[in-house]
Amino acid sequence: MDNRTKEQRSKCMKNIRSKNTTPELIVRKFLYNKGYRYRLHDKKLPGKPDIVLRKFNTVIFINGCFWHGHKNCSEAKKPKSNSEFWKTKIVSNQQRDMKNIESLSKLGWRVLTIWECQLQKDLMESTLSDIVNKVVE
Ligand SMILES: [Zn+2]
Repeated sequence: MDNRTKEQRSKCMKNIRSKNTTPELIVRKFLYNKGYRYRLHDKKLPGKPDIVLRKFNTVIFINGCFWHGHKNCSEAKKPKSNSEFWKTKIVSNQQRDMKNIESLSKLGWRVLTIWECQLQKDLMESTLSDIVNKVVE
């Protein structure tokens, strides 16, 4: 007998659903199904890339548009309150991202950045096939 209330159950379901649709998981699942094997969040590399395809000398960052300040992106719109705080935070994220990409390139890695908004329903397919094209290039 399941003793949990309806509410608890639906909360639980919601958690599962949102976990499986995070941008990072979409990319991971796609690559895995295509036969790619990878490391996750490799601490030995600058910026701890989300996905590391060692065989292809490629690392992939999956960036949230807001946190990483995606240029010209509606998803990156800043919240109205406390906007100075966010601005500073986002600018420092951008600078860190740039530095990491530079260091990785110097180490011989090809760096791909995927933005959260590129994984929205209508764009997802072309974004994902684009990754594969770049990886095997
Ligand atoms: Zn974006």
